[in-house]
Amino acid sequence: MTHPYDLLVVGSANADLVVRVDRRPAAGETVLGSDLAVHPGGKGANQAVAAARLGARTALLARVGEDGHGRLLLESLRAAGVDTSAVLVGGAPTGVALITVDPAGDNSIVVSPGANARLAPADVTGTARPAAGAAVVSLQLEIPPETVAATVRAAAAAGTRVVLNASPPAPLPADVLAACDPLVVNEHEARVLLGERPEEDADEPEAWASALTALGPRSVVVTLGAEGALAHGDGASVRVPSPPVQAVDTTGAGDAFTGALAWRLASGEDLETAVRFAVRVGAAAVTRAGAQESFPAVDEIPAPPAR
Ligand code: ADP
Repeated sequence: MTHPYDLLVVGSANADLVVRVDRRPAAGETVLGSDLAVHPGGKGANQAVAAARLGARTALLARVGEDGHGRLLLESLRAAGVDTSAVLVGGAPTGVALITVDPAGDNSIVVSPGANARLAPADVTGTARPAAGAAVVSLQLEIPPETVAATVRAAAAAGTRVVLNASPPAPLPADVLAACDPLVVNEHEARVLLGERPEEDADEPEAWASALTALGPRSVVVTLGAEGALAHGDGASVRVPSPPVQAVDTTGAGDAFTGALAWRLASGEDLETAVRFAVRVGAAAVTRAGAQESFPAVDEIPAPPAR
């Protein structure tokens, strides 16, 4: 069956408001910082931009406010080639992340979900929503859990493959977990979903992947930063190394990875092959500053590491 879209991303869109400071303020303290930098972000918008920049036919279903930040996000999405006809506008201010970064690169972040918190189940399941028009639906957890659940159920009913990045980590209903193919987590998210069970071999990503599989998903991918990722499906785990790169800024690496993974799965690749592609996209994204600004086009991806 051919679909109008390779990928439908259902998720968040935020403006990232970044100020560099010498020292992050303590309670009651005021510090002076750099000029404000405003970047398009949010895990949903990031994944959509990552996939579209690679050439995927991508739509985003999200909600932004009727404000400058919303317009910034729509512009960035359109410039990358994302179909924004399902981005809803209004109801609350655009979500923002207020970020202070110190010279060591450590940050403090306040997120105001704003319009993301108003993306309702009816927005996703209402008439003419494109959930059935994509080969893969990709989600993260920066929108209300009931909207995630409604999307996953609609996708499952339509026979659409679900890729879910459990970020930020939160408990998921059994039927939502069961539909994930794959569930994508980093090491921190894996620990949270597993209830940080202090098992003997709990530091082995292979052990996390099998423990996560026991929660119901059809497949699991654990991202391992500079180490690459682990693909786990059909009872077997495969470690996929990342190409070695000079990391400059890892912001958005997981979003670039997952957007790329979802697109390759939509084009019919098996999980391991898709992960081998996605680690190269994640690696490219860490070689440049920023999130969406750092995401590569196909000709900017490093070669696979020698096997
Ligand atoms: P998150 O950004 O969600 O914490 P990771 O840090 O695991 O996720 O990064 C996601 C992917 O980005 C990794 O699987 C890998 O492919 C790539 N990546 C991240 N950091 C590096 C790095 N230092 N060098 C090469 N690739 C990296």
